[in-house]
Amino acid sequence: MIPLDLLADETRCNGSAAVKRETTLMKWQERWRAATNGSWTRRIVPDIRPWVSRKFNHETNPFCTHCAGVIEDAEHVLFVCPRYSAEREELSLNIGRNFIVTDFIDILLSSQNNWVAVTHMAADIMKSLRRAERQRNSNSNSR
Ligand SMILES: [Zn+2]
Repeated sequence: MIPLDLLADETRCNGSAAVKRETTLMKWQERWRAATNGSWTRRIVPDIRPWVSRKFNHETNPFCTHCAGVIEDAEHVLFVCPRYSAEREELSLNIGRNFIVTDFIDILLSSQNNWVAVTHMAADIMKSLRRAERQRNSNSNSR
């Protein structure tokens, strides 16, 4: 989802991965602002970072608990992870097309129904991730 030229810049920079990613997201945010200046898309998507933040599940471990060796970012959780295939299928029915990452912005902005359906699905998934995280934390604390 992150533009390739920004990712290329990121690989050329020095510094920790987290700092570099933050810089990339800031650049992307700036580009997004410039590209959508004054339009309604800017108002409804005021900050793209929550959609792509690496710390999607707020834990120090960045990997998906379901898929070995895969970073659990928004793209993985929303579009790829088998844990949420039921949610994805339901959403696809609701919006009348496949929910795929390359169509994400187009899907989001093509109708209010889609916007609401996608944001609800994302919120449900985030709630589920938080629940799982709390579960894991309480398990490890009681050990
Ligand atoms: Zn996964």
